[in-house]
Amino acid sequence: MTMPRGARGLFAPERVAVVGATEREGSIGRAIMENLESFAGDVVPINPKRDEVFGIAAYSDIGAVPDPVDMAVVVVPPHIAVDAVRNLAENGVKNVVVITAGFGETGSEGAAREHELQEIASEYDLNLVGPNSLGVMSTPVDMNGSFGPEDALPGSMSFMSQSGAFITAVLDWANDQDIGFKDIVSLGNKAVLDETDFIEIWNEDGDTDVILGYLEGIENGREFIDTARDVTEDTPIVLVKSGRTDAGAQAASSHTGTIAGSERAYEAGLDQAGVLRAENVEELFDYARILDGQPVPDGDDVAVITNAGGPGVMATDAIGDSDLNMASFTEETVERLGETMPDEANIYNPVDVIGDADNERFKKALDIVLEDENVSSAVVISCPTAVIEYEGLADDIAEVQQKHGNPVVASLMGGERVEVPADTLRDHGIPNYFDPARAVRSLDALATYRDITELDYEPPIEFDVDRDRAEEILRSVENRDTNRLGVEAMELLDAYGIPTPAGDIVDTPTKAREVAEGIDGGVVMKIVSPDILHKSDIGGVKVGVEDEDVEDAFEDLVTRARNYQPDATILGVQVQEMVDLDSGTETILGMNRDPQFGPLMLFGLGGIFVEILEDTTVRVAPVSERESEEMIDEIQSAPLLRGARGRDPVDEDAVVESVQRLSQLVTDFPAILELDINPLVATPDGVQAVDIRLTVDPDQL
Ligand code: ADP
Ligand code: MG
Repeated sequence: MTMPRGARGLFAPERVAVVGATEREGSIGRAIMENLESFAGDVVPINPKRDEVFGIAAYSDIGAVPDPVDMAVVVVPPHIAVDAVRNLAENGVKNVVVITAGFGETGSEGAAREHELQEIASEYDLNLVGPNSLGVMSTPVDMNGSFGPEDALPGSMSFMSQSGAFITAVLDWANDQDIGFKDIVSLGNKAVLDETDFIEIWNEDGDTDVILGYLEGIENGREFIDTARDVTEDTPIVLVKSGRTDAGAQAASSHTGTIAGSERAYEAGLDQAGVLRAENVEELFDYARILDGQPVPDGDDVAVITNAGGPGVMATDAIGDSDLNMASFTEETVERLGETMPDEANIYNPVDVIGDADNERFKKALDIVLEDENVSSAVVISCPTAVIEYEGLADDIAEVQQKHGNPVVASLMGGERVEVPADTLRDHGIPNYFDPARAVRSLDALATYRDITELDYEPPIEFDVDRDRAEEILRSVENRDTNRLGVEAMELLDAYGIPTPAGDIVDTPTKAREVAEGIDGGVVMKIVSPDILHKSDIGGVKVGVEDEDVEDAFEDLVTRARNYQPDATILGVQVQEMVDLDSGTETILGMNRDPQFGPLMLFGLGGIFVEILEDTTVRVAPVSERESEEMIDEIQSAPLLRGARGRDPVDEDAVVESVQRLSQLVTDFPAILELDINPLVATPDGVQAVDIRLTVDPDQL
């Protein structure tokens, strides 16, 4: 995918051709023509069988059109659509929206057609939307180049959707809610332009303030992350991601593969991209609206003002559940509230102006709390009473919000009586919700967006490593009948600077003893076989073996392996230095490849119970130092690493460095399909990787 050049022509064309324009009842060609009736530019129908369509002169072919066309909508049947697109391209049309279905979504013949579209697009540098798209819309030029039943209202959010039907549903609802859009695109099969292109296009568009998306998948996760990070500096991106994909998911033979599913990859990837992820459509538009209408708060401290106790508690609870805090007022604020409010009022947060409050009292209270330097935002809650008048209150809230410039959300509760005041608030960019908790969640999203814009994305550190040696070890799978490697590949970690205990793999009891004698104290002995995935499960690991017992232990380990699987390939026995587990914590550090996001790093509590405890976190690699630190912070057992119950804290820097070094390894070698270091023992004196397992695709070396 390349950066779409001049893709603005998709949304702001002067002349739009409709290839397959017709008046035939019930046809898509007719629906598009009807929808384009209000278009500010020219519409050029293309149809060899007609002289005109809806009174507009039609052309038999794009080549016959005298003036240049900057965008074309293609609705002809699939078997001629590819030729139609080529014809457009040859005649200099750069922006093409392919509505026609019957491509990649229908099987191999369709997939071949889609591939042809891609080739034409790349040859002629086309901005191609679809195929299988509902179309595009752009309100500043009154363009509805879709076959949906409704036009969009003007606005400053731009919306992309992988489902065309969903756009029609959203429009119907949004029109009802007075929610407007700048551009809308139905992505269809994303043969050429995908979500990454549109966030780039809208980032450059001064009229798009918020980018919204409904996605079922992301084409190229890493590219999306890198682009989105850049875009979210100025333009928030809010996405609903639905559909759990297992496309391409390999049968996992690692812990990491089992634990890190694609849903977790999305979670991590979208988070790393700086995208606000909405759980559902309601949240999508809640977040969009507040991001569109309100400034970001300069802190997390919220003031709540209410005329009713219950809803005030709901807001307080919701703040407790969020990343926001209840603001604690300065003495001055408390004093001023005390002077202005009746004795029965609560002048501490949440401020209860009580049931007999009129508009004036509400307004004063809001004005006083927003004056407070300890308050960054406010939630105004009101239940209908005989003395409160919602329409005036809406004006007051808007006025005070504008005076102070802090974000405010409202929860004027009620039914019909709220309609007009809610409109007033909306005109001032202030969202109103029946549910105070929903108001708080929107504020929370706004604060999260502020955090996103404040993040610095530093590049991953490049460590000095022995790449050739690593490649050599990975290549050792080439002369094997399996693509799995175990502890015999320990040196891979040494090559990338991840510490491993001293040791060796030997094939006789005598050599085992020799190695053990060269190591201080007892040793650990492990069976080494590509056929045995979990060594301790079959009694294939012996810990604390004294020198004089080493030979017997060797025989014993081999016998156990043979009993377990008579034809197992046994490469030998590993004799390894003991790591002090008492002062350390067993962690897991691993990677598996996600079909969309690529290498996904996993870190968590390790050892033999890893899949039972499931205390892990994931990030898309390559990871920066900060992202690696976050991984340690995020696991529930972080306090264990930091010296809970009188233990010495482990060397956290060494853990963070190992995460980054492994990230570099798996980024350097796409041939590593999955990898587990389990355990990576973290101690106060550093880390030791005592076990490794990986799967290699030799074709990618
Ligand atoms: P597997 O995961 O295949 O069973 P490991 O090599 O991870 O084999 O060993 C299993 C467990 O044995 C580890 O989780 C750890 O508790 C312990 N162990 C392994 N190697 C060492 C070592 N060098 N020092 C101390 N304990 C070890
Ligand atoms: Mg292990």
